[in-house]
Amino acid sequence: MSIRVLSVFGTRPEAIKMAPLMHLLQSTEGISHAACFTGQHRDLPLSVLDAFHIKADYNLHIMEEAQSLSGITSRILLRMDEMFTRERPDLVLVHGDTSTTLAGALSAYFHKIPVGHVEAGLRTFDKMAPWPEEMNRTLVGDIADLHFCPTLRNKENLEHEGVRGQIFVTGNTVVDVMRTTVRTNYVFSDPKLNAVDFTGKRVITLTCHRKENYGRQMEEIFTAVRMLLDKHEDVAVICPVHPAPAVKEYVIGILGGIPRVHLIEPCNVFDMHNLLARSFLVMTDSGGLQEEAPALGKPVLVLRNNTERPEAVEAGTVRIAGTRTDTVLSAAEELLNDEIVYHQMAHAISPYGDGNASERIVQGILWYFGLAEDRPLNYQ
Ligand code: UDP
Repeated sequence: MSIRVLSVFGTRPEAIKMAPLMHLLQSTEGISHAACFTGQHRDLPLSVLDAFHIKADYNLHIMEEAQSLSGITSRILLRMDEMFTRERPDLVLVHGDTSTTLAGALSAYFHKIPVGHVEAGLRTFDKMAPWPEEMNRTLVGDIADLHFCPTLRNKENLEHEGVRGQIFVTGNTVVDVMRTTVRTNYVFSDPKLNAVDFTGKRVITLTCHRKENYGRQMEEIFTAVRMLLDKHEDVAVICPVHPAPAVKEYVIGILGGIPRVHLIEPCNVFDMHNLLARSFLVMTDSGGLQEEAPALGKPVLVLRNNTERPEAVEAGTVRIAGTRTDTVLSAAEELLNDEIVYHQMAHAISPYGDGNASERIVQGILWYFGLAEDRPLNYQ
């Protein structure tokens, strides 16, 4: 017996985190795999797949200029309907908390196809932050039949909500990815990164793109970074600028043209992971970076007021710096000025996985369909 698994993804983080899993699904006996790209983000996700030698079997091409959440969601639902007239998988896998995740799960449910949710159970318990991700992942928790949680806490969140189905604790697949991307002798593909002095300067990697930070918060955050540079001559900042116009306006307006600030194009994931590995500190509102930097022993300041990833805050490698100039500046200054605090954060243990999450997920799928005797043991 063989089962057909369809993985759905639409954004860069989904592509990165699903890549090692899709790879393994493709080579696992008893499974035939198809990858479906919704096109929620235009080009970035496909270039991620190329880097991992994975081909999208379906491209739903749903991207439109100035697309709204309702437009994205409805186009995915309609185009997945069409796809399901040709393709009848036994399981649909979705990842995380995007509009693709929600629409992909809902569409599979409408077609009575079981759904597996990878990176399940993350919660801030505030439905407006992050928006709309918190509600996307919560709704998918209700739809899914298989929940693959990175941590024990994620599993407990789902248990409190009384979700149906099988819950597994697997670790996060992003740690699997990092086993293949980070190398000591790595040469960046972006020449601007090869020109950075990582030994003579303390390099801060900065990313900021969340919708809740648009406007006033971004102004405050980038102002804090500017003040930090004025106060510390040995600090350099590298910021891969997110393509959203609302981000560009603020970052270029406040940090553009400043010496020791490198505003670069979004980098490929290999460059990104190796940039993190060579950084002194990471300042970000990204979810994925909060998992990746701790795995490399790099302190993270989160440019938000909450996080769905409290495990690394408790472990001591991540701090919530907020979005005001004074809180961001003082959190960064403490790390730059106090070696003991820095070393405590840099040496805390990362809670997000051991690099074997994809194997546990595949084992969970095989077990669910009666193709393996043993349920995978929980991570942690
Ligand atoms: N990333 C990347 N290039 C960049 C910025 C981020 O490859 O220029 C990667 C990052 O390493 C992580 C993922 O994209 O794996 C995070 O994406 P993002 O911050 O857009 O989304 P989030 O994780 O917040 O959903």
